[in-house]
Amino acid sequence: MSTGTPSVFSKIIAREIPATVVAEDDRVIAFEDIAPKAPVHVLVVPKTEQYRNVTELAAGDPDLLSHVVATAQRIADERAGGQYRLVFNTGEAAGQTVFHVHAHVLAGELQEGTLA
Ligand code: C5P
Repeated sequence: MSTGTPSVFSKIIAREIPATVVAEDDRVIAFEDIAPKAPVHVLVVPKTEQYRNVTELAAGDPDLLSHVVATAQRIADERAGGQYRLVFNTGEAAGQTVFHVHAHVLAGELQEGTLA
């Protein structure tokens, strides 16, 4: 569950902080990662802040998870011939820094030493 404090991604959704938005509908937003680790590095974020990570999202709203994946595929189709990595960092030790579930859509060569 969320902490009650708006996440940085909720602030992007509310247009309180800037981001380069590449796709949006009533359930998700997708924008360029501010610190890209690959030539294509887009984040796909559910608009609800209810789920901290992909495990919670899968358990709580599998249809929304499916929509996140479909959105990632569409972005990869447009930018990378449909071939991409989809990364959900889960937990601090795994590199998660924002506890509002998000998918990293990565294509092209990754920066050395990084997964996302
Ligand atoms: O998986 P993790 O939680 O580490 O991913 C958070 C991502 O959010 C980072 O890749 C970071 O660059 C990105 N970010 C962003 N815009 C912000 C804050 C963070 O794209 N304003």
